[in-house]
Amino acid sequence: MTNNRTLIVGNWKMNLNVQQASLLLHRLHERIRIRREIELVLAPSMLALQPLSLQIDRRKFRLAAQNAYHIDGGAFTGEVSFSMLQDLVHYAIVGHSDRRHKFGENLDMVRDKVSAAIRNDISPILCVGETQVERRQKETKQVLHDQVTTALSNLTSLDVAKVVIAYEPVWALSSGTDYLHHEIPTPDLIADAVKAIRHHVYELYGKKAATEMRVLYGGSTSASTARGLLETEGVDGLLVGGASLNYQEFSGIVDAAYRMQTASESK
Ligand code: PEP
Repeated sequence: MTNNRTLIVGNWKMNLNVQQASLLLHRLHERIRIRREIELVLAPSMLALQPLSLQIDRRKFRLAAQNAYHIDGGAFTGEVSFSMLQDLVHYAIVGHSDRRHKFGENLDMVRDKVSAAIRNDISPILCVGETQVERRQKETKQVLHDQVTTALSNLTSLDVAKVVIAYEPVWALSSGTDYLHHEIPTPDLIADAVKAIRHHVYELYGKKAATEMRVLYGGSTSASTARGLLETEGVDGLLVGGASLNYQEFSGIVDAAYRMQTASESK
């Protein structure tokens, strides 16, 4: 653990209409207590951000966008810019594998989104990770190198302190419902990838940036696997997909993070 607050992010993806999102938030408010040791972030759909921002208890949760456009305004029909989100969210997920692989976002597009987020005072949660094919061809390290170095390449060292990186091996991501039965990487594999990520940050921005960078793990996390994943060397938190849509699972993940934090503090 390189940062003393564990960061847990729930990515609701393209699920829940505004009413359902509001109900889930209500349930989470009921279940989850304010914990100074844990920072909780919810990423609902773009449509739900505004109403949820009025409902949310800001002492418990922060909001994140799942995506935004890298130009601040203009003739870009259908897009929402980071500048429009500035007052609504603390974070924005950038470079999620859904965006890279289903919407064709390439390395340069992800870099431009990271820069746009920073320019608009939003902390990007930069997702990186190899596909199953890249894993089999032993290209993981190269993929992480290219994704991390390109995404951060336009930032100053002051900017980079605001970035969070999520290691999300694409082959470990659930479909949204099979997260309890999906293959997840071994702790050694996650630790190796996180080490490689920090090494690339180190090469670009030096030791302080690399040590202080918050690095999350994401991929089929559940309440029962959360603690082991959080105890993995170098992991500062979790990016949770499918399990974040179930208030019992998500609050179970938060409880696991709290228990781990309090156990490590009492050592
Ligand atoms: C994700 O897609 O960011 C994710 C972590 O999903 P899941 O937990 O469902 O694998």
